[in-house]
Amino acid sequence: MPATMTNIMINAKQIYKSFGNLAVLKGVDLTVARSEVVVIIGSSGSGKSTLLRCLNHLEKIDSGDIAIENEWMVQNNADNQAIYQPDRDIKRICSKMGMVFQHFNLFPHMTVLQNIIEAPITVKKMKREEIIPIARELLQKVGLSNKENDYPSQLSGGQKQRVAIARALAMQPDIMLFDEPTSALDPELTGEVLKTMQKLAEDKITMVIVTHEMGFAREVADKVVFMDGGVVVEQGNAEDVLVNPEHPRTREFLSRFI
Ligand code: ADP
Ligand code: MG
Repeated sequence: MPATMTNIMINAKQIYKSFGNLAVLKGVDLTVARSEVVVIIGSSGSGKSTLLRCLNHLEKIDSGDIAIENEWMVQNNADNQAIYQPDRDIKRICSKMGMVFQHFNLFPHMTVLQNIIEAPITVKKMKREEIIPIARELLQKVGLSNKENDYPSQLSGGQKQRVAIARALAMQPDIMLFDEPTSALDPELTGEVLKTMQKLAEDKITMVIVTHEMGFAREVADKVVFMDGGVVVEQGNAEDVLVNPEHPRTREFLSRFI
């Protein structure tokens, strides 16, 4: 779907981010349209996680503009410094995004169901009886209906990650961000998580996914973004970027996956 003004979910422009002297993002532009699946690829250290973390305000950017659903979260002032919205607005804007990490980050002392309902109850002030049916529906979606009373330690890595996905969805985000959701999994468990994400794509959920799963990217991504050294080197539809890349750096990167 082309990104017109009305259906732009994420609009990030000229994002700069350094850690001390280390410039990590050096002018990154990223647009994500409603229902679009954008896959970000690139070598370790190229700035992919930092970019996701900046979008979700887990890191503050140094300069650039970020708008989520046409509502600006951070804008540059005349001196090219990033000015953030007040905290309460940032919280509200960021609550439109759910995030799934490489290391599931489930609460170990809570059951699967408790993990899923915790944030909707404490953050969104939903009632237990309101969120529990939603949580059960989500567990069914991720194929874990029979696990609601298990603790994370009783689950495989793939199951844990599917709980983490259900937990993020329970907050009813408009956008899901995934940072290498299968990188910590044994190869035989990645498929079930990728399948779950593919289902979300079929449900038209807007997603930004950092992954090294090129087969998945080719099949599911509407747009593939190749990052290297803190810049977007190349982006386009999955076929163009993954099969007929224009840039030598993209070709070199992809050659490692053959
Ligand atoms: P990727 O996800 O593409 O592997 P990252 O965004 O994690 O890349 O990291 C990009 C660079 O930024 C790396 O050199 C990393 O060491 C550095 N970096 C990331 N987070 C921090 C941080 N909190 N403090 C200092 N350096 C960081
Ligand atoms: Mg990373």
